[in-house]
Amino acid sequence: MLVTATALSLALACSPPAWRAEAASHPLVPVVRRILSHEAGQQPPWKLPMVLNGLLRAPTTARCTTYCELCPDGGGRGTRWGSRIRRGIVAADPRYWGPGSVVYLGPPVDEVLIVEDTGSAIRGRYRFDVCVTGHHALCSQWGTFRTVCVPLHWEAPRRRWGDKPAGWHPPVWELTPRLIETAGARIPSLKALLTPLVASLPGSKPG
Ligand SMILES: [Zn+2]
Repeated sequence: MLVTATALSLALACSPPAWRAEAASHPLVPVVRRILSHEAGQQPPWKLPMVLNGLLRAPTTARCTTYCELCPDGGGRGTRWGSRIRRGIVAADPRYWGPGSVVYLGPPVDEVLIVEDTGSAIRGRYRFDVCVTGHHALCSQWGTFRTVCVPLHWEAPRRRWGDKPAGWHPPVWELTPRLIETAGARIPSLKALLTPLVASLPGSKPG
């Protein structure tokens, strides 16, 4: 941990001032680090390219609440999209977000979440209700909070949500050398973790 912090501050000290605030503050840096260092365990293939693209997007602020199957207004065990409520999903305003959109919400949530639900009280582009199934204590502990938000994938709003197709997952964007290099240039502290990825891409030239 100490080593990481030192490496990070060194890397940041060497970058031009304009980069500094950007790289230090981008909320997806720890997320990319967790995925690349396998700290978060096996991740679905769509996540890394989506999060790397997210590094190039400006974060915004969201107002959030949480819900679960034990909440009086939790809406039972099913989502608007016909899926089962569980960790990793979020309710959003269907006027702005279609089902299957993906957002990152910062601490205390600190997760990449898929929009699979809606709620009558969830109104506004950056208003989310985070599903915390199995952790009802968090519903009152976190209450209503503001946190950083990075939209990662946008599905067009639609009137009828229907049922989530079997086996559905967010799009798997291509992990290109250019994307990896751009992310590495942007976040110097991740370069060591990102560089080996380029070599592992199909069609990459050795050396
Ligand atoms: Zn609850």
